[in-house]
Amino acid sequence: MHRVTLIPGDGIGPEVTRAAREIVDASGAALEWEIAEAGMATGNAGGLPLPPAVFDSIASTGVVLKGPTQTPFGEPYPVQVGDRVYPSVAIALRKELKLFVNVRPARNYPGIRSRFENVDIVIFRENSEDLYVADERMVDADTAEAVKRITRGASERVTRFAFDYMQRTGRRNLTAVHKSNVLKLTDGLFLQSAQTVAKSHRAFGFDTRVIDALCMELVTRPEAFDCLVLPNLYGDIVSDLAAGLVGGLGVAPGANIGEACAMFEAVHGSAPDIAGQDRANPMAMILSAVMLLRYVGEDAAANRIDAALLAVLKDGRQLTRDLGGSAGTRGMTQAIVENMNRQPAGRNG
Ligand code: NAD
Repeated sequence: MHRVTLIPGDGIGPEVTRAAREIVDASGAALEWEIAEAGMATGNAGGLPLPPAVFDSIASTGVVLKGPTQTPFGEPYPVQVGDRVYPSVAIALRKELKLFVNVRPARNYPGIRSRFENVDIVIFRENSEDLYVADERMVDADTAEAVKRITRGASERVTRFAFDYMQRTGRRNLTAVHKSNVLKLTDGLFLQSAQTVAKSHRAFGFDTRVIDALCMELVTRPEAFDCLVLPNLYGDIVSDLAAGLVGGLGVAPGANIGEACAMFEAVHGSAPDIAGQDRANPMAMILSAVMLLRYVGEDAAANRIDAALLAVLKDGRQLTRDLGGSAGTRGMTQAIVENMNRQPAGRNG
């Protein structure tokens, strides 16, 4: 039995994590959930946005399914863990748990409208440094600056992880993304580190792109790319862009992986504009749960969910509004569960 920490989160988080949980439970996976509350609602209720109990749970399970947590825009929102302060719960978890890579696949699905076909990209976003060290200051009343930190160790580690993932999953080509023509030291070091690691992985294709050129190519011929490795901020932006290429935030899952534990969460945020209205698309969270199942070795259950989700997408009658349908979160979830229940026993197992 695999124990998993479940953080419902804020906004649509409780709705989409409930959907993912129901579907995982129906898949036959040997998972036991441990609920841990974190986020703005927890903070507003008089507690800490990220209470120590969350870390206690993760220390014993090693695996987390996390709903999105809300960060107020434009006002200070310090998330304190011990004597360390972070700008959001998600960043605090990634840093404290040393989740050094964010894996974000973006691919076309049948029945989901998008401008492009044959997109199947995996993005490896370095998760621990770059501008996300959030070391900012006011130089004077009208001038602000931030530190962009890049290290050889973290850049080589994320590139090695990308090649290992490619080995396991049959991927062929890695593109390292940078802006070293301008940021010669920081992005130059990221590029040089990726090139060094690539030299010992010659069985795979490897090339490089300047970030602006990559963005242009992604919106003209995204099918040309296989895997991308990027520093933290470019990785964040490009993974949302890639989500847009294949049907929007509602279909983009993610995994944050470290040496000791892993956290699975959708790319999207807490979507306060549609929270509590049974309108959220649960697909990104379901796909994140599928990545979790593969991480813990529950491949048969993952395959069952994949098959049921594909069938519901192809059928097209129980899709949420962002996918062009009129079903709610619950209706789409129920359709996936019912499809799984109709699958012959042992299928894909
Ligand atoms: P968002 O992703 O929450 O929403 C952007 C738009 O996409 C909204 O119109 C929303 O309705 C729509 N959307 C998002 N997910 C959807 C889904 N599953 N189904 C249907 N529509 C969906 O981004 P935002 O508005 O910039 O951020 C809202 C909050 O979420 C902020 O407080 C932000 O800090 C937080 N956030 C958290 C995480 C995280 O916890 N990992 C990630 C991103 C944003």
